[in-house]
Amino acid sequence: MYPIRFCIRIGEEGDVVRGSPVPIAAIEGFDVREDRHFSVTRRQALLAGGVTAAAAGALLGTSGTGPASAAPGTGGSRHDADVIVVGHGLSGLVAACELADARKRVIIVDQESGENLGGQAHWSLGGLFFVDSPEQRLMGVRDSHDRARRDWFATAGFDRGPNQPGGEDFWARQWAEAYLHFAAGEKRAWLAGMGMAWIPVVGWAERGDGRVGRPGNTVPRFHMTLGTGPGVVEPFVRRIREAQAKGLVRFRYRHQVDELITSGGAVTGVRGTVLAADDAPRGHRSNRTPAGDFELHAPLVIVASGGIGGNQATVRKNWPARLGTPPEFMVTGVPAHVDGRMLDISEQAGARLVNRDRMWHYTEGLRNHSPIWPAHGIRVLAAPSSMWFDAAGKRFPSPGIPSYDTLGTLELIQKSGYGYSWFVLNKRIIEKEFVLSGSEQNPELTAKNLPLYLAKRATDDVPAPVQAFLDRGPDFVTARSVPELVGKMNRLAGSSLVDAGELERQIRHRDREAADPRSNDPQIRGIRRSLDYLGDSLIRTVPLHPILDPQAGPLIAVKMNILTRKTLGGLQTDLSGRVMGTDGKVIDGLLAVGEASGFGGGGVHGYRALEGTFLGGCLFSGRQAGRAAARMV
Ligand SMILES: Cc1cc2nc3c(=O)[nH]c(=O)nc-3n(C[C@H](O)[C@H](O)[C@H](O)COP(=O)(O)OP(=O)(O)OC[C@H]3O[C@@H](n4cnc5c(N)ncnc54)[C@H](O)[C@@H]3O)c2cc1C
Repeated sequence: MYPIRFCIRIGEEGDVVRGSPVPIAAIEGFDVREDRHFSVTRRQALLAGGVTAAAAGALLGTSGTGPASAAPGTGGSRHDADVIVVGHGLSGLVAACELADARKRVIIVDQESGENLGGQAHWSLGGLFFVDSPEQRLMGVRDSHDRARRDWFATAGFDRGPNQPGGEDFWARQWAEAYLHFAAGEKRAWLAGMGMAWIPVVGWAERGDGRVGRPGNTVPRFHMTLGTGPGVVEPFVRRIREAQAKGLVRFRYRHQVDELITSGGAVTGVRGTVLAADDAPRGHRSNRTPAGDFELHAPLVIVASGGIGGNQATVRKNWPARLGTPPEFMVTGVPAHVDGRMLDISEQAGARLVNRDRMWHYTEGLRNHSPIWPAHGIRVLAAPSSMWFDAAGKRFPSPGIPSYDTLGTLELIQKSGYGYSWFVLNKRIIEKEFVLSGSEQNPELTAKNLPLYLAKRATDDVPAPVQAFLDRGPDFVTARSVPELVGKMNRLAGSSLVDAGELERQIRHRDREAADPRSNDPQIRGIRRSLDYLGDSLIRTVPLHPILDPQAGPLIAVKMNILTRKTLGGLQTDLSGRVMGTDGKVIDGLLAVGEASGFGGGGVHGYRALEGTFLGGCLFSGRQAGRAAARMV
């Protein structure tokens, strides 16, 4: 029979009350033994009440639900799991792993097929932000929590009530503090303990102008994972498979959530459309043909549905006025499933969506010669030697220097009045300085072949994926002279905006500055600063040389498009990942993680990111919410 003597704590802070003889063992997923004191929330007490009724009904022969738990307000329907996770991307997987570790029963619902497990993270470069890591020390980089904190806050620029409850940045700021402790603390050891490793050369993304208190990383912090994105996802898939084998985790693929079920203001489940089967390969757009309906109930729902970057219409709608009008043409840096629908659905259930105008789109986007998803763009992570010009061929002032300041450059491009820009460089620069973001663009690293990866980066060869763009990329032109190059640039752009004489004059000016050891040209100083850093001089930055040096040619021009990628705002959450309502109170039963939650709190990055913080944000927010949810059910 069920144990009947126990003591329950009710409420979050919890007054201890003597429990009535409720057959608690009937609450699925509860590991309860006789006489054991344990904590439950007010919500669980309600559920216990539901179970009492169900059990009483069963004893009286009036209920056919047996010992499963009943959801209040769902007409006595069963709970299908302890927690429903919407989204099988990295953040959803991490949350589910933590729940399974606590022996909670989880259903993961995703609109895509199992082929797409891991979501965007699979496609990612696997760059992670660590603070004061062994890799940094090996490269001679001195970092600290305090330094990272200064950089983060200067970069984020939280200015929407960060210290006022109710402010859009109130929880975001707190998530930033918590995330910085994680990144400077247990993050690396936690991941290494699951078998992850990183290349010893730390990258320097978003380096800004190097001054403390200004946006940017004052030191390199971008740690590329051996195995790239798939290497980040792998340990969590392994843990999920183990949990699946134990019956703790179940998947519902091709299940598109259309609605959050609410009862008395609390979220109690999800409802949606079963989509027709689709054997599209990973990353390809799949059909949205309805094949049925579904409804699932659980005491908690975790939204892990990603951002809006795959939906250009929503990106345009949220485009901030401070960045002018959205570019007419953009490429898309994420698969079509990053559609933002679930954010609207959560809003309809009363959730508070904040900082929706904050987004992280890149300014170095290439049209993919072999697209996987619609309008597929590839981002170039360039080092500082390429010259950067607006569409009319006018060199950008600082911070228009590759690898410096994503949003600052976006502002410059938007102010130019055109939606694209030009890189001008030569073969010597492209050999070393072009890294293409994406697991499929870095085959040696994705295959975890570190020696081959380092050898290829250190030698004077154009990496094969970059060569493929030189050969087939629609945004690349090459030439032996500036007039020839400009002719091709203008033909590509379908205009005569760039003047060959003017472009050549600017390149010659830059080449003279490069020869002057006391040059004040910000880009030349930036290249020297980069070469002073061991990691860059080893595999990322070419020695200063004239761009017009025939030995370094041919000349190359690349038309750079704006590429949509990350959503910095999102569902506002407290430090447990619980979603706030528009009334500023927690919505019972609803949590959010990953990009859907602005990587925590509705915008942990503020206006700008230090990079490598998105996967990290999924790991941290997924872990936080997963652990918190395990305590709640
Ligand atoms: C090419 C590329 C390179 C990147 N490189 C890096 C990097 O080096 N470092 C870094 O930090 N970040 C990087 N990122 C960003 C990072 O990968 C993503 O921000 C992160 O993986 C997002 O994970 P997520 O779990 O929040 O969402 P997603 O991965 O988007 O997963 C969300 C899931 O929810 C599902 N879903 C959505 N709505 C519904 C619904 N209504 N019903 C059912 N299911 C739904 C989707 O189908 C999807 O599977 C990169 C991204 C890309 C695309």
